Amino acid sequence: MKVFAAAMLAILFATTTMAQPAGPRGSRQVMPDHYILIHAGTLLAIPGKPPNSQMTIVVKNDRIDRIVTGFITMDEVGAPAGADFEVIDLSDRFVLPGLMDSHVHLAHQPSRGRRRVQRGDWDTPTPAQLAINAIIYARRNLAAGFTTVRDVGSNDQSVFAARNAINAGRMIGPRILVSGSALAVTGGHGDSISIKDTGHPGARLADGTCDGPIECRKAVRYQFKLGADLIKFTSTGGFGSNTALEPQLFKDEIQAIVATAHLLGMKATTHAYSAVAIKDAIRAGVDSIEHGFLLDDEAIRMMKKNGVWLVPTISASYPPPIFNLPDPPSVKLRNKHRAFERAYAAGVKIAFGTDAGTFKHGTNAKEFELMVGFGMSEMDAIHTATVSTASLFGIDADTGTLEAGKLADLIAINGDPLNDISALRDIDFVMKSGAVAKRNGQMTEPFTY
Ligand SMILES: [Zn+2]
Repeated sequence: MKVFAAAMLAILFATTTMAQPAGPRGSRQVMPDHYILIHAGTLLAIPGKPPNSQMTIVVKNDRIDRIVTGFITMDEVGAPAGADFEVIDLSDRFVLPGLMDSHVHLAHQPSRGRRRVQRGDWDTPTPAQLAINAIIYARRNLAAGFTTVRDVGSNDQSVFAARNAINAGRMIGPRILVSGSALAVTGGHGDSISIKDTGHPGARLADGTCDGPIECRKAVRYQFKLGADLIKFTSTGGFGSNTALEPQLFKDEIQAIVATAHLLGMKATTHAYSAVAIKDAIRAGVDSIEHGFLLDDEAIRMMKKNGVWLVPTISASYPPPIFNLPDPPSVKLRNKHRAFERAYAAGVKIAFGTDAGTFKHGTNAKEFELMVGFGMSEMDAIHTATVSTASLFGIDADTGTLEAGKLADLIAINGDPLNDISALRDIDFVMKSGAVAKRNGQMTEPFTY
């Protein structure tokens, strides 16, 4: 795929530079290489390995050209004369790879308005409102240091549109992997179609509602047709619905969803609480489990044996402060089962994920504090949001660590997150694919378009 894209680019490049005369619109100017030298006071290039002091990251266009010891100058880079360059001084900052969140919902976040919706006082948000939300919340994730996020369920096509605008360079934002609508069975967690539309095939497809293996295959294919990067399905109810925490899908439905996703080259992830549902999904070959709050020992063993990822979303068990619930039952349930602690102790692969959108976007990093609070080391917590997420997303050749040849996705903070993980709450600098998105705590690109 990449080779094909590169070949196409090479053809386009050859065509535009050789065949077209120079002109104001008809030609594409060949852009000179752009270099950025980042002087990093402390550099955690590869989470899991110790950081280094006083390093220079040489960024060439969108990728890391090399990383060298000491603060070097442009003369020492050996770039062609006249090359465009900039030096960014982060010599008193801690620099690390861009963070990634495996579980966000970019079209939503709770608000007083949302509360009114839940009370039935308001109509549900229109697609137009959701698309605006997706743009704003995507930027908020990037500003919080998340250079890649995985949207696992937005009930319309707003997030596809936001992803496409970002990929086309029309707007700065995080790299987004999109599932489209999460697939759910009729009446299950995530079935949001009104009773009057329940039998309407268009409404069912758009909502990701399916019953039986044939419908569920079609539901996967439909999200793929819309442009899904992965498939999310909901095996059980959850804190966000009153459909109970036990299994809602038959095994043949789970198998149909996972097998069709894999056939089309997509990963499949499931929202699952009960251990029975988790095990059914593992047997069907699922790639990751979202939440997993009721994992039992057998499920933990199966996850480890099959290399299935846990996306813990501890934050999801803490209701947003606007709901003002004393002693939330979801926290009690989480603390009783301690799935995260037990999976971590057993060596299950853990990928950082928060469920941002069920709480305020941009506060994703509080998950790090919860993970460390429940016994994970600071280094391991950072690893879950960089190396591990890159692997789960299947983009580890390009992201997850800062190494020559990879995309220049990096962030800088004040303080040392290996000593105090809460330093990740406050992101000073963000670069995504070599473009500076945030500098001195301010986003570089205001909304002017
Ligand atoms: Zn979620």
